[in-house]
Amino acid sequence: MNVNEYLSKGKNEVKEIIKEAREINKKYNYFNYIDEDATGGKGKLSNLPVSVKDCICVKDMESRAGSLILKGYKPVFDATVISRLRKEGVAIIGKTSQDEFGFGSFSTNTDNIPKNPIDVERSTGGSSGGSGGFTAITKYTHVSIAESTGGSIACPAGFCGVAGFTPTYGVVSRYGLIDYANSLDKIGVMAKKVNEIKPVFDIIRGYDEKDSTSLKLDLNKDEKIKKIGVIKETLNVDEKIKDAVLSKLKDYEEVSLPLVEKYGVTAYYIIALSEASTNLAKYSGLRYGESLDLKGNYNEYFSDVRSKFFSTESKRRIILGTFARMAGYRDAYYLKAMKVRNLIIQEYKKAFKKYDVLISPTMPIIAPKFSEISKLTPLENYMMDIMTVGPNLAGLPHLSVNAGFIGKMPVGLMVIGNHLDDNKVLKFGEKIE
Ligand code: GLN
Repeated sequence: MNVNEYLSKGKNEVKEIIKEAREINKKYNYFNYIDEDATGGKGKLSNLPVSVKDCICVKDMESRAGSLILKGYKPVFDATVISRLRKEGVAIIGKTSQDEFGFGSFSTNTDNIPKNPIDVERSTGGSSGGSGGFTAITKYTHVSIAESTGGSIACPAGFCGVAGFTPTYGVVSRYGLIDYANSLDKIGVMAKKVNEIKPVFDIIRGYDEKDSTSLKLDLNKDEKIKKIGVIKETLNVDEKIKDAVLSKLKDYEEVSLPLVEKYGVTAYYIIALSEASTNLAKYSGLRYGESLDLKGNYNEYFSDVRSKFFSTESKRRIILGTFARMAGYRDAYYLKAMKVRNLIIQEYKKAFKKYDVLISPTMPIIAPKFSEISKLTPLENYMMDIMTVGPNLAGLPHLSVNAGFIGKMPVGLMVIGNHLDDNKVLKFGEKIE
């Protein structure tokens, strides 16, 4: 049942969905934690079952961001999005599996790897893989609260055939998010259908004094679509993906965004990993999560804990990010990437003078098989984000909506809007769907 119908009928299927989640989890690994005792309450979202990406803090519920180093960490507080949802009566049913700290595009960089609901030999996409998979497979009414740094909501939405919305940066509070890269992280919503997103988005958005990057501005009111631009460079993909996307559009023009295409992935990974490497410094086995027997001096202990509990991908990102920020290299990499980011924002802003929304495929491929993913080099892995890093670097609202299938595998279409045009993006997505 659609969220809007569920709410208007005053339904309560919390017990049923928890039972289903437990069963499904045995085969698909969508949850790192299920709260068997979750209950809802009264409010605008009365008894709506909500799953939450593992990196968002939920009081008393293990929240480990898909990482082993945070095993056993139970926050003593709710993230702002969670406390706002609870006030409106939702039931938080559990924490969904993800790439460790959001580091990945296939949810394979973790100990609990979610499987694609349509074909278990394939990935759900990432890093919000558990959220995407469970949203697609559940028989019950449900939404998932997920997070995107460089495409982690759009990608799994595309691969699992559901709707995934990432708001304008700053519109939804990041307080209580276990951060990946602060200047890029955004909390958003996944649902089976686009029109189920708004009732939840309207509750979680809005200024929060606990987040210094939270916006005081209101969303734009104008939702009219006069002109649609399709990003030319992103059509350089498999014909079937291109056809699926274009078949959903009537009148459009092609628009070229060469900077995003050429420098997006490079700038994104330099900035994201620089921020990530400093964020991970706090995991030392002293404050949160796992620890070891105290042996050696502080540096030795710190290294032992981090060697044992961080995955290979996290270690790679710490080394790359630390290198990019090092004295002597800072100007060559980090500062240059920040300048490129500004130019990319300007390129989008210019396009939005003419077009109301910009369209591209969500991902350059359909959900790959695990056997294919294991053959990818780290660089090939990073290149998979070529379509999603642009709007994320620029902090633009974007939505992945299903545009059809190749065989039985879904193809995602991405709608990108100007800053604060979040409602315009959602409205257009509904039309496409
Ligand atoms: N795949 C991208 C990365 O690995 C994006 C992940 C995300 O949005 N959390 O950085």
